[in-house]
Amino acid sequence: TDLAHIRNFSIVAHIDHGKSTLADRLIQETGTVKDRDMKEQLLDAMDIERERGITIKANTVRIDYRADDGQDYVLNLIDTPGHVDFAYEVSRSMRAVEGSLLVVDSTQGVEAQTLANVYQAIDADHEIVPVLNKIDLPASDCDRVAEQIEDVIGIDASGAIQVSAKTGQGIHETLEAIVTQLPAPAGDRDAPLKAMLVDSWYDAYLGVIVLVRVMDGVLKKGDRVRMMSNGSLHHVDRIGVFRPQMETIGELGPGEIGFLTASIKQVRDTSVGDTITHEKKGATEPLPGFHPSVPVVFCGLFPVDSAEFEDLRDAIEKLALNDASFSYEMETSAALGFGFRCGFLGLLHLEVIRDRIEREYGIDLITTAPSVIYHIYMRDGTMRELHNPADMPDLTHVDHLEEPRIRATILVPDDYLGDVLKLCQDRRGIQETLTYAGSRAMVVYDLPLNEVVFDFYDRLKSVTKGYASFDYQLTGYRADNLVKMQILVNDEPVDALSVMVHRDRAEMRGRAMVEKLKDLIPRHMFKIPIQAAIGGKVIARETLSALRKDVTAKCYGGDATRKRKLLEKQKAGKKKMRQFGKVDIPQEAFISALKMD
Ligand code: GDP
Ligand code: MG
Repeated sequence: TDLAHIRNFSIVAHIDHGKSTLADRLIQETGTVKDRDMKEQLLDAMDIERERGITIKANTVRIDYRADDGQDYVLNLIDTPGHVDFAYEVSRSMRAVEGSLLVVDSTQGVEAQTLANVYQAIDADHEIVPVLNKIDLPASDCDRVAEQIEDVIGIDASGAIQVSAKTGQGIHETLEAIVTQLPAPAGDRDAPLKAMLVDSWYDAYLGVIVLVRVMDGVLKKGDRVRMMSNGSLHHVDRIGVFRPQMETIGELGPGEIGFLTASIKQVRDTSVGDTITHEKKGATEPLPGFHPSVPVVFCGLFPVDSAEFEDLRDAIEKLALNDASFSYEMETSAALGFGFRCGFLGLLHLEVIRDRIEREYGIDLITTAPSVIYHIYMRDGTMRELHNPADMPDLTHVDHLEEPRIRATILVPDDYLGDVLKLCQDRRGIQETLTYAGSRAMVVYDLPLNEVVFDFYDRLKSVTKGYASFDYQLTGYRADNLVKMQILVNDEPVDALSVMVHRDRAEMRGRAMVEKLKDLIPRHMFKIPIQAAIGGKVIARETLSALRKDVTAKCYGGDATRKRKLLEKQKAGKKKMRQFGKVDIPQEAFISALKMD
């Protein structure tokens, strides 16, 4: 296709404003998918995505459209992931297109993620077409919302398209706006090949499928190509596009978006943002801005039932095939036995993987405290990375510790600013700037990543009723007074509950953890001390009192069936527990104990 007849775009929106529904309508209106094959939310593939309302992997669809000018256009829609853990993937997929539809629910108005997402689009120099959705609803107020878009975001919304993605009203106008208002891509057919690797995933039949945007040159079946980040060579055996199902074509020219397969075995051999060029007469300079995405949050995953270790290994290996940013290695814990130490891009990423293991593979898991990577400077001048608090070396050999810091940008309606500042302050944040965008405050904080990885995002959502948006980037490492805090249950250290904390906050964290654990651990026939300690020194302590003997006899008198039922229930409950010494600790205790609220 010649460049003038291509339009590449993404849709940016706050969650639930109708991004997926609009994509469905665009696909349907253009006859890309026959009506009888149409099912809701075509582009949202995985169950978890549907349930959580987020799209994790970028999806793409190529739409053929004959415009009112009588010409045939190719419209490529890339659906971008919508969560801060995947910020890098979002920024790369935004670079693969020239424009965005900015979808705003006309009954709600501009919200936090609207801003965060539209700023990503603006950063990528997109032309932006505002779309006011849900005009079929009585509460729709297009004038007010258009004005808000102008005030808060600062883009012209006078020509905003009024749409109901539900009824199909305004869909034709949206397609016309894509053709007339978004720019055609630039690119040089005769220049050396430069294709950006936008995404990749594993397919059981075809191996790794690589989504690419060709910037310059032409990519053909049979080409020998090189990944510029690592120099690896591949033979392209298939080129195609998504409609949205895969369809093979002969070549992808400049401005086009499609996929290639090249007998690549593992997703980890491909990195998002990389530049693909030809082996011979290739480009000398890669596309700018590439850096590999590396895991920043680590935790241990252990099977509740140790007999399921091999099943867990199998599940983790399969998931890793399809997710280059997820890393793992075997770990043994004195308390938990065999498991894996896994690395993730962030907490959502962790939750998604954990949920998939539990759901798709039916394995109950114990997840240990998430931790960031600390730098340990030893007395002998060497530096070690610490991925697991349990591996903290003997303090006599340690000179000092450094922890990763981030720059966090939070956008929040003025009313909630006080709560947000307090939250950041409580998490050892240092305020950098505070400015306003309309009635929203934009505050930038320098924060320790370790204070953010656990439940910062949840807390932020709850104190702002979901109206805050949050984005961060790693800035570097800084020394601080950090110590390892252990938890002892019945005088036995539970290494899976060890955490690194700032010394000044240790008492508070320790107290909170032992109090939580006291509620989470069921009573036993004996007294159980629960303690937090630094080195050998106990800094917080609770005691779980003993259960009175023969609880069933006491509670239920002589009723034999109820008694039996209670015992069965206790037995079932046991399955989700692990024994530590003589104490059963329920699975949820490992995560709940760490939540700070
Ligand atoms: P997303 O999170 O931005 O992808 O939003 P969805 O497309 O999943 O839509 C969120 C909810 O709004 C769903 O229940 C849709 O059926 C509904 N919805 C989307 N567009 C419209 C619309 O134009 N009118 C009405 N009444 N509901 C809509
Ligand atoms: Mg959606």
